[in-house]
Order: sequence, then structure tokens, then C-alpha cells
Amino acid sequence: MKPTTHTPPRPTMPYLIRNGRLIDPDTGVDKLCDLYLRGGVVERIAPPGDYTPPGVYDTVDAAGLVVCPGLTDVHTHLRDPGQTHKEDIASGSRAAVLGGVTSLLCMPNTEPPLDSPTLVAGVCERAAQADLVRVYPVGALTERLAGARLTDFEALKAAGAAALSDDGKPLADAALMEEALRRAAALGLPVLSHCEPETPQALREIELAERTGGPVHLCHVSRRETVELLRAAKARGVRVTAETCPHYIWFTRADTERIGANAKMNPPLAEESDRQAVVEALRDGTIDILATDHAPHHPSEKAQPFPKAPNGVIGLETLLAAALTALYHTGLMPLPRLLHTMTAAPARLAGLPAGRVGEGRPADLTLFDPDAPWRVEARLMASKSQNTPFDGMTLRGRVIHVFVDGKHRVKYSAINRV
Ligand SMILES: [Zn+2]
Repeated sequence: MKPTTHTPPRPTMPYLIRNGRLIDPDTGVDKLCDLYLRGGVVERIAPPGDYTPPGVYDTVDAAGLVVCPGLTDVHTHLRDPGQTHKEDIASGSRAAVLGGVTSLLCMPNTEPPLDSPTLVAGVCERAAQADLVRVYPVGALTERLAGARLTDFEALKAAGAAALSDDGKPLADAALMEEALRRAAALGLPVLSHCEPETPQALREIELAERTGGPVHLCHVSRRETVELLRAAKARGVRVTAETCPHYIWFTRADTERIGANAKMNPPLAEESDRQAVVEALRDGTIDILATDHAPHHPSEKAQPFPKAPNGVIGLETLLAAALTALYHTGLMPLPRLLHTMTAAPARLAGLPAGRVGEGRPADLTLFDPDAPWRVEARLMASKSQNTPFDGMTLRGRVIHVFVDGKHRVKYSAINRV
């Protein structure tokens, strides 16, 4: 059964979510409770049955479900403008909300790249029209992502950019990167660095962060050597954060042959020792964030011979279940700690009003059944593209309801059980 996003007939209807297990990784809350949502915020959190709201409201039975802050993904490619045959802001927003992601940062390597206030504002406008999740554009670090001239950071921020990056292309000029880190830090904008080759460039970014006072964020860390650099840098107080992605936790180079081009991404899958190091780094906090690097490509593009197929895999609709299956159901990470990597930690990196549940805070909530098994079927996904390495696999952990700004956006009525 294909899940659909659910448009409420009465968008401002208050909701009482009953008997859910509220996990707020940022505050350490983990308890059964009721949550009353009204006017776009969580108005009341009370022990089960203790609070009866006045007036008319809808009820959601959350018994057996985890209620957590809506997930934040700091690494999504929405392909809009310019490559909307792969994805657009509306389809990407649907994929996000169905995956429990209520806030996302979208990368600037569009056509043209998001290097001007007009282009950044255009993304914000189309996201507002799609009206499903909170979309925060990442502005280009350099004009046309060419690595030569820095963009106008202040103007990009004023237009709505929440971070800066030349993702997809490493910024080779160290002096320019140093200047970028200083200017971005003054504006409070995080710089997200796509490191290529990963470990040498991560070393350079860490040295620059150390010299300038940082901060810097390393995208999609996948190698044992990078993890070791990061761990040492954090131990001496360098302001560096890092993300990895579910595919680096699940797969290695050995899987590439079996899966084909849907396991081709940048950085490429590595060795088992790398995979284990990445898992250990998430466990001990060396890697702060799980992000998708959701990178849609049209089936015809991925159908080319492996060397010609473009890099990237989609990930919004499998993020939570892939994480739960690999890290929670195996006993490697407790649920609150794992959820922290997809809620509080990414929200903090980008300075977003997300990643926490509390009275008076935005009612962005993801409700999921942590145990429910389901089969990933690429053809049923809301994304315009189907390039997932998880196709056909059974994962555990199913998003059931999603609220964004107090609006009930997802309701799985029929779970695609195995
Ligand atoms: Zn990248």
C-alpha cells in the first residue's frame, strides 16, 4: 500500500496525542505522556490521562509508539532548480515528511547553484508552497561553486540561507577556506565541508578550524583515518562537528558488486574496518550527526554502466529505520542516544528552532513504532528517484504519524508489513 501524505481538513485543529513514549534526547526526558498541540506549538505535556483539553480536538492514540522531535536532516539534495527530473522541492518535501524528517538543509549544487540571494529566496518560496516540512537552503560558499570567489554570506543569510557549503566540490584553496571560516563564524553560519580526498582534506579543515577558532562541519565521514583525526581534534577542543550516513553503517565496498550503481556514492563505500570505525564514532560521539546525503538520480542515469553512473543514493524515507535496525535493534546504541544524532545534534549545528520537545516549542513531532518491520520498496517511494541501496530489504522501525507546525502531515493507515 503506497503511503500518502495526509492533508488535514481542518488545519488548525488541536490534537491530543495520548499514551506515547516521549523521548526528548536533548533534555533526557523518556516517559509515557500525553501531548496537547494547539496553535502550532506543544501547549501541554502531562502524565497519561491527566489533562483534558477544553473545546474540540482530535485524538491520536500513540500507545506503543515513540514520540520524538521531528528529525532534522542537514544534508539533502533537492535538485531544484535545474534538475527537477530527479527531484523537486515538493517531491523531496514529501519524501522527507514520510521519513519523519520535519526540517532539512538542502545543498546548493543545483543548476544554477544557490550562490545568490534570489536563488536562495526562490527555494524558500517553493518550500513554502509545498508546505510540508521546513526547508533551509544551504548557500554556496563560492560563486558558481567554482572555488575562486566567496559569495556574499551576509546577503545569502538575509535571504534565508542557514549554512554555507560547496558540497560536491572540495574547496581547494586553503587561504580562501580560512577566510570563509572567519566570515561565516562572524555571521553564525556553519560551514559544511565536503572533503575530497576525505582524510587529507579533513585534516586541513581541522587545522583551519583550530587556527581560526572554527567552527567547521565535515560532511559524510566514511573512513577510519578521518574518524581518528576527528577524535583527536575533539579531544584537544577544536570546534569541529561531523556527520555520517546510514549507507556507511550498512554497506562496504564488497556490497557494491551486488547492489550496483545504487551503491555508488561519494565518498565511495569502504572497507569493513572503516564501517566499524564509523559505527564506533557514532557510539562515542566523535561523529555527532546522522544525515542522509539524499542524492536523487533518475533511473535512466543510474542505469548507465557503473563507471558512468552518477554518485549518490536517496535516503530520506529510510533514514530512521536504517538507523534503528543497524544501531538500536543490535544493542549498539540506546534509543535516546541514537535519536540525538537525528534531532538535537543536527538542529544545533544549523541553529534551527527544532530538535527538542517542550511546552511552547514548535509542534514538529515524529511518532514511530520502533519494532515494526517493513520492506523497503523503491518503486513506492515519494521521491522522484528510486536509487536506494536498501531496496528489497526488511528494516525495523516505522514512522506512523508526523506533525509539522502542529499540522498532522503523515498518517500511515496501512503498514506495509513483511
Ligand atoms: Zn558531499
